Amino acid sequence: MSTVTLPVVEVNTYKKANPLLAKVIENRQLVNRDDSDVRHIVIDADEMNYLDGQSVGVIAPGVNEKGNPHAVRLYSIASLGSRVVGAEKLTLTVKRVVYQNEAGETIRGVCSNYLCDTKPGDVLTLTGPAGRKFLLPIAEEIERPYIFMATGTGIAPFRGFLQRLFKVTKNYQSPVYLFMGARYRDELLYDEEFKAYQAPNFHYYTAISREQKNADGSRKYIQHLMVEKAAELLPLLQDERTLFYMCGLKGMEAGFDFAIKTIAQNAGLDAGQLLASCQARLETETY
Ligand SMILES: Cc1cc2nc3c(=O)[nH]c(=O)nc-3n(C[C@H](O)[C@H](O)[C@H](O)COP(=O)(O)OP(=O)(O)OC[C@H]3O[C@@H](n4cnc5c(N)ncnc54)[C@H](O)[C@@H]3O)c2cc1C
Repeated sequence: MSTVTLPVVEVNTYKKANPLLAKVIENRQLVNRDDSDVRHIVIDADEMNYLDGQSVGVIAPGVNEKGNPHAVRLYSIASLGSRVVGAEKLTLTVKRVVYQNEAGETIRGVCSNYLCDTKPGDVLTLTGPAGRKFLLPIAEEIERPYIFMATGTGIAPFRGFLQRLFKVTKNYQSPVYLFMGARYRDELLYDEEFKAYQAPNFHYYTAISREQKNADGSRKYIQHLMVEKAAELLPLLQDERTLFYMCGLKGMEAGFDFAIKTIAQNAGLDAGQLLASCQARLETETY
């Protein structure tokens, strides 16, 4: 995103060799399904100078199968920067990873299970902060349209971004779109919190892939929702000031390309040109 000035941030103040030991304050369940457990975890890590949009690293206790300490796993920060007056403490949105391997064994992800099982008072080993690019522009350049696209825990950084735009920035006026994708309605993270935003320039749209269908019977993902909102989005796609941020499941990049190309084609525009222009203004964090 060469057209904007991003804040200069601290990175890797705390490393594996000199981590920050930080206490869990709260561990609250956001999704409670047989096949899905997602937690809102609040941590006392005020010493770390992080900004919304960055990530922190977590080192799970114990050793891996080779007898070495576990590798660092990154988690997006779901709250405002630690130096913002009145900000909540460091917040993470963590999905418990459990899956069956080819042999039919149940595999439990090391760090996500550790984090999801923590209790208030437990002490975490943190590194970071990490990331210099998935950031909103500096205050002087923040007033511009934004299109945020999230799937699953990819919503985390947008929770902080929305607080920055609507609670920290005075009189923020430009349109903000949040397209959120989940499999089921009860997996929409922070849904009530986002619905409670009163700003007329905030547009929150959700695609529930296992519950909603497109006209042709296929599952509805956020790219389909974006195409449905083409009339609203097209002027923003063409506006060089608009910035795009995408976070969540690996593979959602293809959905972005599909949405922009389809909107351009339906409007009789050069799809390649519009896509290239939008991609130049897109920041992606998928995992
Ligand atoms: C920049 C960044 C930000 C991130 N932010 C978040 C966040 O906000 N919230 C969050 O929950 N996670 C986030 N992650 C992912 C997180 O870092 C971990 O990768 C995740 O929690 C799994 O770690 P684990 O130790 O539990 O699993 P591991 O023990 O590392 O096991 C994960 C392994 O299991 C494999 N695997 C997982 N599911 C399946 C499956 N269904 N079938 C087959 N194999 C599978 C994966 O390929 C991977 O190799 C982020 C990652 C990055 C890079």
